[in-house]
This record gives sequence, structure tokens and C-alpha cells, in this order.
Amino acid sequence: MKNIIFIAPPAAGKGTVSDYLVSNYNYEHISTGDLLREEIKSGSDLGKEIDEIISNGGLVSDEFMIKLMEEKLTKLDKDKPFILDGFPRTILQAEKLDEMLITNKVINNLVIYLDISLDEALKRVMGRVICPKCKRSYNLTNDKLKPIKDNICDNCGIELEKRKDDNEETFKIRFESYLKNTKPILDYYKDKNILKWVDATLEMDNMFHIIVGEAKND
Ligand SMILES: [Zn+2]
Repeated sequence: MKNIIFIAPPAAGKGTVSDYLVSNYNYEHISTGDLLREEIKSGSDLGKEIDEIISNGGLVSDEFMIKLMEEKLTKLDKDKPFILDGFPRTILQAEKLDEMLITNKVINNLVIYLDISLDEALKRVMGRVICPKCKRSYNLTNDKLKPIKDNICDNCGIELEKRKDDNEETFKIRFESYLKNTKPILDYYKDKNILKWVDATLEMDNMFHIIVGEAKND
């Protein structure tokens, strides 16, 4: 299978697709969020610096992210394909990533963009509910993710609640800023002819099928 650089706006379903590929096709899921958390936990000098930046509400610089990714790529299990999630976020990161992939002889890469409109993403986010007791999450807009009984937890039989962090205005801002920041990166990969656009509103099995078809080695 090809390595996948995964680009998707919030609520497009990147997590679901990643889980599917990890479980069924032996992918390693490399997420920058996880890498940052691991580095901080390790107590390394780099980790301490990152912790300080994040604690002060700052953004981790390109330079740091590139360093982290460089480290990770040299430690890859070469027998496993990987999914890159959250990197690159800038053109500089994309260019550096190209260099790193060449240096580490990682060929056969594919960029997937999960395409979803703001309206559709918003509908999904607003449909998210969580059980206040067992914390299981559901989505009322998705037949596969909704509870058996309307708005009642399958496990606990109590009423589900809206997630507190799912605020419409905040989501709109986050979504639009994501699109704006990602546009140059999509153009970058489009020019290299390795970008595959996938409709994130397709039936889930159908979407898996398309992605797996693209990711299979020719
Ligand atoms: Zn519950």
C-alpha cells in the first residue's frame, strides 16, 4: 500500500478513515498531535521547549514540527505503510517533507484530501452527542453512529447531551481558517500530480473502497 498524506477539514471523517486503514491494512497512523504529546511526555529538551510554547498558548513553529517529523521518519517501520495526519500544515513543511521522504527513501506516496462543505461539516458537528455517564459519543446525523433509541445512550439508557466544545460560531471560524491555510498545500500537491480528491459525504463503505483503491500499489 502507498503511504498516505492525509488532509481534511474538521469533521470530514479523517479519524474514521484512519482507523479503518490501521485495522484493515496494517497502516501506522502518525499524528502530529500524538507526536507532540509523546515528545513532551518523554521529558527531552525538545519536549520541554514544546511544552513551554503550548502552555503559553503559542503555536509550535515550523522548525520544531519539521524536527519532530524528521525524527519520526528515521524510526519508521519500513514494512508498514503510514498515514501522515496533521503534517504538512505549511508550504515550508511540505517542501521539507519532500526532502525527508527522499532522504529516507520513502517512495510511493499519495495525498488524499477529504472534501466536505462547511454546511455538511457543521451538520455533523451539531449532530454530535455524548453520554454524560459512560462518555460514549454518537452522531445523530449518521445512521451507523446514532443510538438505537432516539437520544438515549445504548449502554446506560440515559439522555444524551450535546458536546460542550461544539459551538457553531467557533466551528465556522476553525473550518474556514483551515481551508484558507490548506489551499496553498493542496495546490502544491496538485502540481506534483499526487493529490487525490475524495468526496467525504459518500457512504462510508464507498469512501473506504475508493481510498483503498487509490492506495493500492499499481
Ligand atoms: Zn452511556
